[in-house]
Amino acid sequence: MKIKDIFETKKTVISLEVFPPKIDSPVETIFKTLDQLKDINPDFISVTYGAGGKAKDRTVEIASKIKNEYHIESLAHLTCISATKKQIKESFEEMRVNNIENILAMRGDIPEDPDFDFPNPLQYEHASDLIKEVKAEGDFSIGAACYPEGHVDCESKVKDVKYLKQKVEMGAEFLITQLFFDNELFYRFMDEIDLAGINLPVSAGILPVLNKNQIIRITKLAGCAIPPKFQRILNRYEDNPEALKEAGEAYAIEQIIDLMAWGVRGIHLYTMNKPDTAKRIIGNIENIRKLQG
Ligand code: FAD
Repeated sequence: MKIKDIFETKKTVISLEVFPPKIDSPVETIFKTLDQLKDINPDFISVTYGAGGKAKDRTVEIASKIKNEYHIESLAHLTCISATKKQIKESFEEMRVNNIENILAMRGDIPEDPDFDFPNPLQYEHASDLIKEVKAEGDFSIGAACYPEGHVDCESKVKDVKYLKQKVEMGAEFLITQLFFDNELFYRFMDEIDLAGINLPVSAGILPVLNKNQIIRITKLAGCAIPPKFQRILNRYEDNPEALKEAGEAYAIEQIIDLMAWGVRGIHLYTMNKPDTAKRIIGNIENIRKLQG
């Protein structure tokens, strides 16, 4: 089923994100994770795409299994930064053969290597260029990434929203946000995109913080703000891994309940391939999910 149609049928679409195991680990490890995640009954599961390295080759394989063997709708991430236009076109064919109907089309992060040749005419430069190409294929439902606090490379939030509008004009049908810890910043962003005439369903990306190193790495990469309430949790429990994990899960649950009360169209849980955490979090909102339809 096309994800754009799933948004028509549910008040809050619940989705999960997984990443392929490293290429030197057996691919089967992800199926053990999925065996557990399927109990959550998500509306779809997305599979990330490694910008470099061979793990990216596993995205379609895993997304295909999710759809064809677990019978859960899947969303294959695709980035254009490290592939030629020709390779991208080949990947559309591979997805089609595997019955994949949904693509999250992105640019990908620019590698830190100063010799990395980008942009170059053999490649798509922006996600909007890739989205235009996916749209021209005619048979995929297209998602795009968006950034409630602005993308880390962008000069201004105003410009970031302008470029987001281009992704919508080129064919994006739903949006998934970068993780954030301050719901108020998400609500402000929703007003900003509404003013810009962007009316697509937006899924809020929620990451349960499970350890100290993860938060350092992620806030650097994603550039997201830490509200005082969350900072207090980090200060208090950063050297107590068990307590931090418990508090991180509780914080994610509270964020989700607030987002659902606000009327968010989707919750996209970054599972970090940790099914127990994902099950506890979604288990906590299960009744609200059922009662609201
Ligand atoms: P773009 O929309 O192209 O934007 C990139 C930057 O360029 C922004 O600063 C934007 O403001 C600017 N820009 C856009 N258009 C123009 C223009 N026309 N002129 C000038 N500037 C412009 N990465 C992976 O490698 N694999 C994944 O699986 C993956 N999954 C993700 C899932 C989600 C939900 C999110 C939010 C991000 C994910 N990422 C993933 C990270 C993403 O690839 C990076 O954030 C990347 O740096 C930007 O990708 P984009 O598609 O948003 O790029």
